Amino acid sequence: MANVNNSIPITSVAATILTAFGIEPNHEMHPANDIVLEKMNKILRGEKADRVFMFNPDAIALWLYQKYTALFTDAVCASDLQIPMLSVMPSVTPVCFASIYSGVMPDKHGIQKYEKPVLTVETVFDVLIKNGKKCAIVSTAKDSISCIFLNREMDYYIYETMDEVNEKARELIDKDEYDLIVVYNKSYDYTMHKQGPEAEASLNEIKHNAETYKAFEEQIAKKWPHHNTMHAFCPDHGCHEIDGDCGSHGLDMPEDMNIIHMYGFLAKK
Ligand SMILES: [Zn+2]
Repeated sequence: MANVNNSIPITSVAATILTAFGIEPNHEMHPANDIVLEKMNKILRGEKADRVFMFNPDAIALWLYQKYTALFTDAVCASDLQIPMLSVMPSVTPVCFASIYSGVMPDKHGIQKYEKPVLTVETVFDVLIKNGKKCAIVSTAKDSISCIFLNREMDYYIYETMDEVNEKARELIDKDEYDLIVVYNKSYDYTMHKQGPEAEASLNEIKHNAETYKAFEEQIAKKWPHHNTMHAFCPDHGCHEIDGDCGSHGLDMPEDMNIIHMYGFLAKK
């Protein structure tokens, strides 16, 4: 593949979420992604979103989307646009999700290696809470998203298994009590590290992630007809194969840095 890096950084996600709500991002955050906002304006007829649902599958590289596009069918069809995005270095989970939800580079948010301290910089969650919004994180125990955003006035639903996570997310969609819901799925990353990025079991998890996102989208469409919703399929970094049929990431190479994000919008009925 061409040795090219994508141009839109994952640090734009934070301001994109806030702007979608009609809330001003803080000055430190990388500017919002105008492609997403333009599409939102069109589908939401110039209105802002009052619900945002973020689905965070781990380690979904752009090259996987290019090489195994059909596996992404459900996610592509559940979304309105797909955008190549650039991760941050080192391309490991806590560093990347810290950048996604703080909108700043690792040297500013402070997580610069594989460690999971609670972030002290202002994040999307802090800005939303300040603006009276309710946020929830639904994730698996000890994983980055479950750790680095703790100590905020929001709700954390932390479980042992991904099935429990997704079941809770479905319950939260039904209850419709949160403005922002963040759901983390680690199955591809977990499988890819052990069996390699292109092992059958790993590719099955990509398909599973795409199906899960679609199921959330369909449920949201059914349960939130009175809301303007933005939903996203938003991984943290990519991956590459290493010796011994294993997978890895963390390096400054296109396979690890280039990822695919998808966004969809559901207008109030
Ligand atoms: Zn990750």
